[in-house]
Amino acid sequence: MKKIKVLFLASEADPFIKIGGLGDVAGSLPNALLDLGDEIDVRLIIPLHKQIIPETFGITHYSTFVTDLGGKKQSVDVFKTNKKNLEVFFLSGEPISDKEKVYDSNIELDGEKYIFFDLAALEFIKRDGWQPSIVMANDWHTAIALHAIKQRQADPFWRNVKTVITIHNLCYMGAGTEAILERFGISKVITDKIPWWGKHVPLPMGILAADKIVTVSPTYSKEIQTAEYGCGLEEYFQYRAEDVVGIVNGIDQDIWDPEKDQAIPQTFSISEIDNKKVNKQYLQELFHLAPKPSVPLLAMVTRMDQQKGVDTLLEAIELISSEKYQMIILGTGNPEIEEKCKLLEEKYPEQVRAIIKYDGKLSRQIYASADMILMPSRYEPCGIAQMISMRYGSVPIVRATGGLKDTVTEERTGFLFEHINAGELAASIIKALRTYKKKDLWKRMQTNCMDENFSWQNSAEKYKNLFESLV
Ligand code: ADP
Repeated sequence: MKKIKVLFLASEADPFIKIGGLGDVAGSLPNALLDLGDEIDVRLIIPLHKQIIPETFGITHYSTFVTDLGGKKQSVDVFKTNKKNLEVFFLSGEPISDKEKVYDSNIELDGEKYIFFDLAALEFIKRDGWQPSIVMANDWHTAIALHAIKQRQADPFWRNVKTVITIHNLCYMGAGTEAILERFGISKVITDKIPWWGKHVPLPMGILAADKIVTVSPTYSKEIQTAEYGCGLEEYFQYRAEDVVGIVNGIDQDIWDPEKDQAIPQTFSISEIDNKKVNKQYLQELFHLAPKPSVPLLAMVTRMDQQKGVDTLLEAIELISSEKYQMIILGTGNPEIEEKCKLLEEKYPEQVRAIIKYDGKLSRQIYASADMILMPSRYEPCGIAQMISMRYGSVPIVRATGGLKDTVTEERTGFLFEHINAGELAASIIKALRTYKKKDLWKRMQTNCMDENFSWQNSAEKYKNLFESLV
């Protein structure tokens, strides 16, 4: 059988750089695809963000070329390392190296960085003579690469290349980059298939160009075809329904392993779930909470964004004030939400801690200690935190949306509520707190959680089937 060559383009990939769930995916899926066997080959390309320190990852210079991008000569530096058997390339050049942040609040800065990256990646792979069968883009940042491939159909190198776009978050489309697109010589698309506002916006342009549209969970693939979740593209997704596929993400079970995790005070396995209490005690002491093993510890590890429903949680807390619980919220992002969390901590000093920062080590300690993890998301294309929490025997309380609905089962591995409102969330929390008191039942739920298989192998096989259907 012909080998399928997949070029994987992403804005972030763990462990080189990780901001959110996309970093987890791009850090794991390419290797998981390679692990499926010889029929598939993968290369990953990401930008050499300022935050990536080459020496840490054995990243070395690979090549330099000068190319004409949008009528301007631009120098592109290519760097390379290996992540096990995966070849990872990093692109640099002024529009990348002069940016301070991976994602900037100034969309034009991001536009300049990622549109340059996308075009440079295509140019590099062609110069390197590595002709892909599939180019897989992720979110708006790499979507323009797919549009550019469709524009290059006269070029035999690109003519038969198939394209897949994976949508991790539909709401961020890259709007506001029109002037940058223009500068790179990329015009508006001419079509009546998408609304007028999307014709010069990276994500809709990439979706329009893609042969297949993947969402990171089956439920989300249906949700985006509705007005509530479709961000204005629902009619287009309905029109392309046959090409819209939902593949739930996995987690890297080696990286997220309570039996081996170096960041947690006490490792544990499914047969020693009780050892979690050592971790819980450690966190209670660290955050000056009463060191009581019997008080349920609820936690949330999240970007502080409207999407994540932190505001709903804050309201729900007011409805459960007569309950015994402790809560740790770890997160950073929107300053208003951060502030509200800090105010909550002031109001409930005996119970609530709000830690406003990004801290990978602490997140692990929280997953390893918490009895319950909260994810009251307004929408959740897949969600990774609920899978990590289950792996660490923390029972998730989630809104029944997107990937949360696909990965959590009511009263078997977690608790789900339907609508985003404080009343329903509070009712779900209370149900969990009641169940927690039934020790045998609770342990069974924890065991069910830890028994779930969220390995990347399952998802990688589905991606492989999709690629095979295309080539
Ligand atoms: P999203 O990608 O929308 O942010 P996911 O649940 O898919 O949400 O992935 C979030 C990932 O980021 C998880 O691995 C979670 O543990 C991690 N994370 C989020 N906020 C923090 C934080 N403040 N500190 C450490 N890790 C965090």
